[in-house]
Amino acid sequence: MSGEPLVVVLIGPGGVGKGTLARRLVERDGHLWLSRSWTTRPPRPHETDADYAFVGREEFAHAIGEGRFLEWAEFHGQLYGTPRPTPPAGSDVLLEIDVQGAEQVRRDFPDALVVLVTAPTEVALEERLRGRGDEDAHVRARLRSAPEELARGRRLADRVVVNDDPDRAAGEIVSILEGLRRARRTPS
Ligand code: 5GP
Repeated sequence: MSGEPLVVVLIGPGGVGKGTLARRLVERDGHLWLSRSWTTRPPRPHETDADYAFVGREEFAHAIGEGRFLEWAEFHGQLYGTPRPTPPAGSDVLLEIDVQGAEQVRRDFPDALVVLVTAPTEVALEERLRGRGDEDAHVRARLRSAPEELARGRRLADRVVVNDDPDRAAGEIVSILEGLRRARRTPS
């Protein structure tokens, strides 16, 4: 592979399974490098430093001031940001972020591939959100914002992938990526 890395962005309402899908994608595609975000949100019971860099608001604000983020956004009262990526040579960059962040990435990288991940049903979304152990008020707030996130996501996304099964959905995204890489290698 040559040239600038492709930037691949997964968006979709919380609880849709983007995190699992992102991990499947990097397992299946040896040329994808997954960015690790920063957040001011406290870790959930099973989360580790591999999931996020968990930082305080002051440290986050300092990093904004130093221009260390590719994008950042406030989501339900917490800050989330993507550090400027440092992928190994030849790798493409995978981001798993919210729709506001994706809008910023699109402005800086017009060729980014934005994939909107959706749940097969609203019931599935609610079950997944509740299964993470978040407080009920948080779950309800996230469910309330899901339709607006979806509408913005549909306006921005190049592709929509239904996460009915993470392996199938990952396979679909890998095929899209392989097609894009082929197109980039073929001079027009
Ligand atoms: P959660 O708190 O459920 O881990 O994440 C909440 C939302 O923030 C999700 O939509 C997730 O994709 C998004 N998110 C995670 N990391 C980032 C980031 O670096 N930037 C932005 N803008 N959103 C992020």
